[in-house]
Amino acid sequence: MEATLLVKAYAKKLRLPTVSKDLEKVAQEATQANLPYERFLLLLLEQEVLQREENTLKLRLKRACFPVLKTLDTFDFTASPKLNKPKILELAEGRWIENRENAVLIGNPGTGKSHLAIALGVAACRKEYRVRFFTAATLVNALLEAQAHHALSRLEKQLDKFQLLILDDLGYVPFSKSGAELLFGIVASRYERRSVLVTTNLEFSAWTEVMGSERMTVALVDRLTHQCQIVPFSGESYRFRQSQKRANGATVDTAQSAPMMGAKS
Ligand code: ADP
Ligand code: MG
Repeated sequence: MEATLLVKAYAKKLRLPTVSKDLEKVAQEATQANLPYERFLLLLLEQEVLQREENTLKLRLKRACFPVLKTLDTFDFTASPKLNKPKILELAEGRWIENRENAVLIGNPGTGKSHLAIALGVAACRKEYRVRFFTAATLVNALLEAQAHHALSRLEKQLDKFQLLILDDLGYVPFSKSGAELLFGIVASRYERRSVLVTTNLEFSAWTEVMGSERMTVALVDRLTHQCQIVPFSGESYRFRQSQKRANGATVDTAQSAPMMGAKS
């Protein structure tokens, strides 16, 4: 008994809370199964490592500030037959983040860009990357506000810690001149150092509509697309199709949509 208490105390001192918590349970199991000492220790340390990984993932997901949790599992690729599925699965592996490349998901509203941007962000968190999600408009507002409060460099430093910055919905709201400049500054500072994932409904040629200055738009697109995975999304809005199905009284079963094709777009 005294030994148990001492082991727990040492485990706490060594910052092994799960070892301390699970000690008796695992010891009992090991005794019952007549396990050698090494197996007992292995089981106990495994619990510590698993719990630590789970805690880290939870923290990363919290810090990423996803508006909702979407995953690849809940994305129905058969409903988007023209989407380059192998490319999405490759992006989920995260090597592009390791290589400090960018990604742009581009296409019509409702085609699953935000869903996949979040899902890729979640996949990156699982690969232990630090991820931060913003809508483009929210980030620009945050930058403008920070600038007004003389806290811009602090925010820029915070953002720089994230290996993947997700900018959702670029194109719906045009930015003010200073807002566009600040956004440009963020993308330019990450060039070849940190990854950016943008979702947009606008062709690159139309980005001037949101950025204002043509010169800055060219410079932004140039940096963003230099080392970049560009994934086109096409077809009708998933939301629209779902509501059509409901209106027609059909059961909502996306698996019955168009069959999966080679998905090269
Ligand atoms: P976009 O960002 O392209 O406008 P969203 O990703 O917001 O589109 O998709 C709209 C809604 O439809 C979301 O709730 C999303 O989860 C869902 N959705 C879109 N495409 C699919 C799909 N292929 N499988 C499952 N859900 C989808
Ligand atoms: Mg979207």
